[in-house]
Amino acid sequence: MAPGGDFASLSAALRSGADSVYIGVGDLNMRSHATMNFQPEELEEAVRLCRAAGKKLYLTINTIIFNGELAKMRELCDLAKKAGVNAVIASDFAVISYARSIGLSVHGSVQMNLSNLEAVRFAAQFADVVVLARELALEDIADICKAIKEEKICGPSGELLKIEIFIHGALCVAQSGRCFMSQISCNQSANRGRCFQPCRRKYEIKDVDSGTSFVLENSNVMSPKDLCMLKFLPELLASGASVFKIEGRGRSADYVANVVSVYREALDETASSGTLSAESFERLMAKLEKTFNRSFWHGGYYLGENMDEWSRNSGNQSPVQKKFLGRVTNFFARSMIAEITLEAGDFPQDANALITGKITGAMEIEKCHFMLDEAYPEIAPKGSQITFKVDRKVRRGDIFYLQTPRKFGYLSRDEEI
Ligand code: SF4
Repeated sequence: MAPGGDFASLSAALRSGADSVYIGVGDLNMRSHATMNFQPEELEEAVRLCRAAGKKLYLTINTIIFNGELAKMRELCDLAKKAGVNAVIASDFAVISYARSIGLSVHGSVQMNLSNLEAVRFAAQFADVVVLARELALEDIADICKAIKEEKICGPSGELLKIEIFIHGALCVAQSGRCFMSQISCNQSANRGRCFQPCRRKYEIKDVDSGTSFVLENSNVMSPKDLCMLKFLPELLASGASVFKIEGRGRSADYVANVVSVYREALDETASSGTLSAESFERLMAKLEKTFNRSFWHGGYYLGENMDEWSRNSGNQSPVQKKFLGRVTNFFARSMIAEITLEAGDFPQDANALITGKITGAMEIEKCHFMLDEAYPEIAPKGSQITFKVDRKVRRGDIFYLQTPRKFGYLSRDEEI
């Protein structure tokens, strides 16, 4: 299950091998203030794209709902029902109760912090799938899955309850869904999708008497590395969990394409051979490291360990950065040639590039060999139009990026994407 923050990342997920995508609409979800989010009028189109690809779409309505928001919540559930989303992912009982009353399937969100069999049994009264708390060990997950089979614990559909777990992406230093650090320090609630991430900042300790202060040696003592379960796919499959979820509705289309394609390939190999070869692991890890990461905590809480993996830097540790350069202004279908207008900078011959778009998703182009004015110059200047061959269709308006090695120590807003 892949995150979709906008149409480009949704299409990227579908093209990269996800079986389902989860998205948020409006402000009743925990990424409501991320740069990317869907509008109510876009929901039907999102469902249509998933249906056309034979995949499922889930709508996240996972905030706490206040009395004054009940009407808005009902409206959103009605819209989801009308659009044909496969289920809503919810934690507040108002959402769960209303969704059930209109025949809309419910998945129990990670915000419910379901951490034991009794809680899971209770949730099965209204949910066909439940997301377990991120903080459980794999043996706890396996015990819960075993009990579901043995005791035939079913959701409202009459099918055995399915267990969903997060396998990749950002982690909070606090128990999932129970952090009010941003609310307290910035008056912006994480529960409402407005987390300012104060945990990711540098802190110092100060001797109040003398005024002497020290920056802590590991300068981001509350910023965990990202969860990465690539190494432990056989154990994940053996646990009995059947839905593997990737975090990141705030991430870009190329991130979604990259992470989804890595896990798709790794899961297929593990499912068919029972293991992931060392060669595949090395190659896929190198691919994962290419897009946004705060470096990785391999195994996370699932190995029964306490959080002790802090990122050394508040920002992106990937060795690649991208810079917006222009847009696709034409595509010649017969010859599979894309035409790009360089609006924001020069593009060097044979540099790596990336194209993203609503339907295109994300397409990386290694060593982009372009033509300009019927020649192959060393550089195409800002304002020029270049053409080159592509493997699949791109669309007018798609965004064109230059990809270069990251300069560590300087992190611009663009690079944080
Ligand atoms: S402040 Fe940090 S730990 Fe708390 S919700 Fe935000 S990202 Fe998570």
